[in-house]
Amino acid sequence: MSRTKVVPIPVLGRRAVNAYLLLGRHPILVDAGTPGSGRRITEQVAAHGVDPEDVRLVVVTHGHIDHFGSAAELHRLTGAPIAAHTADLGPYRTGRAREPYLPTGPMGRLMARNPKLHEKAEPFEPDILLRGERGLADFGLDARIIPTPGHTAGSVSVLTDDGDLVAGDLIANSFMGLIKGRPANPPFHDDPLANLGSLRAMLALKPTRLHVGHGTPLDPVRADRWATAEQRRLARLAARGKLRVRTLEPDDEPARGAEWP
Ligand SMILES: [Zn+2]
Ligand SMILES: [Zn+2]
Repeated sequence: MSRTKVVPIPVLGRRAVNAYLLLGRHPILVDAGTPGSGRRITEQVAAHGVDPEDVRLVVVTHGHIDHFGSAAELHRLTGAPIAAHTADLGPYRTGRAREPYLPTGPMGRLMARNPKLHEKAEPFEPDILLRGERGLADFGLDARIIPTPGHTAGSVSVLTDDGDLVAGDLIANSFMGLIKGRPANPPFHDDPLANLGSLRAMLALKPTRLHVGHGTPLDPVRADRWATAEQRRLARLAARGKLRVRTLEPDDEPARGAEWP
C-alpha cells in the first residue's frame, strides 16, 4: 500500500473554495471548482509536478456549481473521465444546482442572494456513474468513494486507506473558511439530519483528517464534538417544526454514461 498525499488546490481565495489533488500511484482530482476555474486548477496541478494529462480521474463530490462548475473544462484539459453519483445527475446535466438552496443559518441566507450561485455552469455527462461505494485501486489510488447523502442526494466523499477523508460539503469551516479549523455547516444542506447521519458514519470510520470544500482541514475529534452539539440543535429545530428539508429524491437516470459495476 502506497502512501497517498492529499494536496489542496485553492479555487477561490486562499481556502474559500477548494478542489483536491490526491497523489497515489496515479494522480486523481476531487472536485472541479467554480465555472471557469479549469486553468487555475490544472496550473496548480502542474505546479505540484504533475502533468495534468496524467490525471486519471476527476471525482465530483456533488451537484453544487462551486464543486462541478469546471468539470466539463477539466475533462477537456486532462482527458480524465469524470465520476459522479447518479442522484445529482439533474444538476450535472442542466448545469444548475437544485433551487431553492436551503440555508443552514444566516450565512446561507445571505449567500443565497448571491447571483453567482444561480448561474448556469457548463453541463456534463459523468463518464462513470456512482451508486454505491467503489474502490479506486484500478485508478492508482488506495482509497474509496463512499456515498454521503444529505448535503445533496448525490453527495460522495473519498476516504484514503491512510485515513484522509476528502469530504466535499459534508462539513465546513466557520464562515467559508475564515475561522480556520472550527467545524461548521456549509451555507446550505438539502437534508441536514441525513447529512449529519452521513458525517457521523464517516467519523465512525476513524479518519485522521477531514479535507473540506470550504476552509482548512478539520480535526475529526473536534468535528465529532461539533456533530454531537449539532444533533441537539437540529432536534430542537425539528421539534419546533423549523427544520427545512428537501427530500433526497434521486434524479431520473436513463443510463447514458458507462455503468460502474
Ligand atoms: Zn455544496
Ligand atoms: Zn460548496
